[in-house]
Amino acid sequence: LHLDQPLQAGREIPASPGQAHYLGGVLRRAAGDPVLLFNGADGEWAGRIASLRKDRCTLLPERQTRPQEPAPACRLLVAAVKRDAMDWMVEKATELGIGAIQPVLTRRSITDRVNLARLAAIAQEAAEQCERLTVPRLAPAAPLHAILEAWDGTPLLVGDERRDSPPLAALAQGLPPGGAWAWLVGPEGGFERAELDDLRRRAFVSTASLGPRILRAETAAVAGLAVLQALAGD
Ligand code: SAM
Repeated sequence: LHLDQPLQAGREIPASPGQAHYLGGVLRRAAGDPVLLFNGADGEWAGRIASLRKDRCTLLPERQTRPQEPAPACRLLVAAVKRDAMDWMVEKATELGIGAIQPVLTRRSITDRVNLARLAAIAQEAAEQCERLTVPRLAPAAPLHAILEAWDGTPLLVGDERRDSPPLAALAQGLPPGGAWAWLVGPEGGFERAELDDLRRRAFVSTASLGPRILRAETAAVAGLAVLQALAGD
């Protein structure tokens, strides 16, 4: 379980009502049962449920079981797509170890309203489920050109379904180790010509192919992360 407080042996910490419901209502746990805790800074702690009633619960950290892992450097930038696809992408990207996720507003994005709080809650739940010790950072949605203008120079790989881009796997082998890369995927309608031209003229950008088929944005996002994590992960 992810907590927003320092973890110290013997210092009881209140869980959120949602976590209380998850422990009692979903996992059918009870007071005294063991739990694993993390807060993104103090590593993983073994502890116990100190008290659990309907939607009120306190947790008792006992001892550290894993040192804190650094926040991953890798980033996913994805054009805003339909809500269910976005939710699914955030959950899978979290399981695949992404460090940060940013919705990107492009000419053909289907929406410019992204509920960041909802996506952050999905990322936290996915981090708890896969036992990561960090929760991906959700950056506010921003227009593609603004992101490019402010870019820090990290290698930016862009999913390109045309057939003349090099395979992502080949590009991933050439990345510096340590996960300092970002993967950008366009909207269901794809990038516009002007957006692709703007991308291609940037030295830090490489367009990359995931094969001859046209993938849904969420498929391309997750498949690309799997390739990059396997070949150039943190
Ligand atoms: N432009 C496409 C069309 O006309 O049908 C649709 C774009 S696709 C649904 C959404 C995004 O997924 C693309 O912008 C691209 O970033 C990524 N994508 C889809 N297929 C891909 C592939 N085979 N290789 C790399 N990226 C792909």
